[in-house]
Amino acid sequence: MTEHEAGMERNWHASEHQDVAQMLDSPVGGLSGEEAARREREYGPNRLAPPKRRGPLRRLLAQFHNILLYVMLGAALVTALLGHWVDTAVLLAAVVLNAIIGFIQEGKAESALDAIRAMLSPRATVLRGGTRMEIDAAGLVPGDRVLLASGDRVPADLRLVAVKELRVEEAALTGESVPVEKAAARVAVDAPLGDRLCMAYSGTLVVYGQAEGVVVATGAATELGRINHMLDSIGLSSTPLLRQIDRFGRALAVVILGAAAATFAFGTLLREHSAGEMFLMAVALTASAIPEGLPAIMTVTLALGVQRMARKQAIIRRLPAVETLGSVTVICSDKTGTLTRNEMTVQRMVCAGHVFDVGGVGYAPVGDFSVDGRIVEPVHYPALELALRIGVLCNDARMRQDEGAWWVEGDPTEGALLVAGDKGGFSVHAAEVAWPRLDSVPFESEHRFMATWHRDADGESWIFVKGAPERVFEMCDAQLDGHGERPLDIDYWRRMATDTAAQGLRLLALAAKRAAPRGEGLGFADCEEGFVLVALVGIIDPPREEAIRAVAECHRAGIRVKMITGDHAETARAIGAQLAIGVGRPAITGAEVAVMDDAELRRVVMDVDVFARASPEHKLRLVQALQDSGQVVAMTGDGVNDAPALKRADVGIAMGRKGAEAAKESADMVLADDNFATIAAAVREGRAVYDNLKKFVLFMLPTNGGQTLVVIAAILFELTLPLTPAQVLWVNMVTSTCLGLALAFEPAEGNIMRRHPRPPGEALLSGFFVWRVALVSVLMMTGALGLFLWELSLGTSVETARTMAVNAIVVSEMFYLINSRHVFSPALSREGLFGNRYVLVAIAACLPLQLAYTHAPALQAVFHSASLTPLEWSKVLGAGLLVFVGAELEKWVIRRRGAFGSRALPHG
Ligand code: ATP
Repeated sequence: MTEHEAGMERNWHASEHQDVAQMLDSPVGGLSGEEAARREREYGPNRLAPPKRRGPLRRLLAQFHNILLYVMLGAALVTALLGHWVDTAVLLAAVVLNAIIGFIQEGKAESALDAIRAMLSPRATVLRGGTRMEIDAAGLVPGDRVLLASGDRVPADLRLVAVKELRVEEAALTGESVPVEKAAARVAVDAPLGDRLCMAYSGTLVVYGQAEGVVVATGAATELGRINHMLDSIGLSSTPLLRQIDRFGRALAVVILGAAAATFAFGTLLREHSAGEMFLMAVALTASAIPEGLPAIMTVTLALGVQRMARKQAIIRRLPAVETLGSVTVICSDKTGTLTRNEMTVQRMVCAGHVFDVGGVGYAPVGDFSVDGRIVEPVHYPALELALRIGVLCNDARMRQDEGAWWVEGDPTEGALLVAGDKGGFSVHAAEVAWPRLDSVPFESEHRFMATWHRDADGESWIFVKGAPERVFEMCDAQLDGHGERPLDIDYWRRMATDTAAQGLRLLALAAKRAAPRGEGLGFADCEEGFVLVALVGIIDPPREEAIRAVAECHRAGIRVKMITGDHAETARAIGAQLAIGVGRPAITGAEVAVMDDAELRRVVMDVDVFARASPEHKLRLVQALQDSGQVVAMTGDGVNDAPALKRADVGIAMGRKGAEAAKESADMVLADDNFATIAAAVREGRAVYDNLKKFVLFMLPTNGGQTLVVIAAILFELTLPLTPAQVLWVNMVTSTCLGLALAFEPAEGNIMRRHPRPPGEALLSGFFVWRVALVSVLMMTGALGLFLWELSLGTSVETARTMAVNAIVVSEMFYLINSRHVFSPALSREGLFGNRYVLVAIAACLPLQLAYTHAPALQAVFHSASLTPLEWSKVLGAGLLVFVGAELEKWVIRRRGAFGSRALPHG
């Protein structure tokens, strides 16, 4: 038994945390980097073994589990019994080829999703070598000191050493969804898992508060690892469109089997063909009509879309979101960090009757304080000094310098205060030594303030708060000015707040109280009254340039952008105006939303684009109101409480960087860069994927339809069969799947973000689709059958005429592939002809196959094909051109007439 395994058996919950830390050799400042690396080598990564995958053989065999392939295998058996060996061989080859293509495609889709799973690996905040840092949770080792905050998924089994109102939801482990309040005190040895309040177990979810814990078990040694239960991870699930296609495919299969049976009966009973021959014909018909490549290629198209989105920093967690993104009509976005840069700089401090301007940009601690353009020294203003001290001490962030550049670890709002403090001569370290922190109430979006308790050099207790002005004003009854404390002039402060916010600055108020907490530690009861208001801080957080462009792009694409922020209404409106969100419209606050009933909210929700001081439950109501008004809603979120709104939204979007694990797990998509522009890029990709699926179906169905019509017409009109069963299978195998796949790589069309969103629930197989499929099928049949009959009438041999018919169909498909690149736009342009090199590659790959089919003696022997003369080839080309020109003419007429409704048109 290793030391660690022995440790597993220890009753961590029944030991004092100091003893646990000692046993695991876990110093207060955390392990050193080298020690952590050593332990990682010893204990392995903190990861659960992934669920067992099907092996390659089983995956290959699963490909044969498909109605069509059963039919073809049955047919192969019958042909073998009849002694038609060539047909048997071709049928078997078709079955195997289909299975192999399905196998490869599934592998490709799986590996795309694997890569994405890796991008979503959870993170953990640890103390290492006295420094707080964020690492990949897989790198945790026993003895590590982990810091938990609300929204985190607990990354390993922890013995808690310090707890601040920590509430953990342990459903993943105990099935109990009511959160448990944790405490650091040890519990009885025989306490069941759910009662071990001093432990936080891997896989459970922090819903409130903060804590520090020592890792006691990682990976498979955790409780979660023992029950060997993986948390839900992303999978290759189906999407509404795939289901629609699947249903369509089944219905089609039934119709085709019926038609094949009818053909068989018709041919044998009324036309007196031999049963064997008609059976083969029925098989050929089935094979030609069923679009077997459809589901596999659809999945690949989706997977490719997911991959393209990941490259643009949008990580899809649920496959259907790819499709839904294309029909989004409203995007509700957070402001801070998504629409804005999240690089905060204190620009203004209202304090002691003065308005101080703070110079400098970004996080470099260089800049002066000035009043009315005159540089001043903070030391001459005691109130300003106290304000800077509060800002630095009531603060959990840290500044770091890396190769000359400064960056914040923690909340950027707090980083801005550290920088302002530094500019005024207050270093964090010195302030913390002089005024040590005894306790704190952490910031949460719901209560919008943070408080800390300190002792100064004289041993006196102070409570500092910082937070949203409305909240802090409520706690104050006095203010500090140049001459000391005065009664609070609330009108003055409100005026200053509105004035500062109207310039787009984010607001914080700072206050202090010379008192100790009533209880043992600092609590909400200590933050209700008796504070002295010290300063109002205005922080600039400029909009992201790319967000401004992305909002404009969304507007052009018929998508409304709404900003839902926790910030002040005036700040939100000013920033909104810079982004062209809600210009000339009112901004409403969460409090106003709260008093509206659902009907009223539905009425205003489309008119208002800026929602300020909104909390997570308002987000949920807004999503519902928008959906009730028929909108397809994408909603962003980052906190644990955003999870319900993210789940409810049509596309829930979580922030990859600042987002809590809980938010990411509820989301359909995660933004790796927290950037609004990424949402717009994902919508663009979503639309492109849907387009490509549509184009693929529009390509695939007529190619099957054309062949089917040829066969049916020949039987109905008692003509010599223009295609033998083996030839039909050849066409199907070689061309449709190989050519059609190229459309999965089709780039987004230039006008894709200038169209209106696709109506949700729009049927893919619309009236227009049926028309286009019928038209092209008839054109293909006309070319192939016409050429065949014409050749026969000229006295050409049946073999040559059939070879020409087969080639006519294949060449028509090649031409039609180019037509299919755009549903309505013309193909005759540089882009139309050469815009997708995969289309050209696919055609170039099929050409030699067709030449071999026609001219290679071995294939001639199998398929009874015959060599063609250049003149015959040019006739074949003519049949292909017929389809190309016909399809382009139809597009032209539709464009001219605006047929099928004006809305359908821009979709090409
Ligand atoms: P968004 O929802 O767009 O991301 P936000 O980040 O401004 O907006 P919150 O983080 O909920 O929303 O902040 C709401 C308000 O709380 C801020 O306007 C600010 O006044 C105050 N606030 C923000 N961060 C802190 C903090 N770390 N400590 C104290 N108060 C804060």
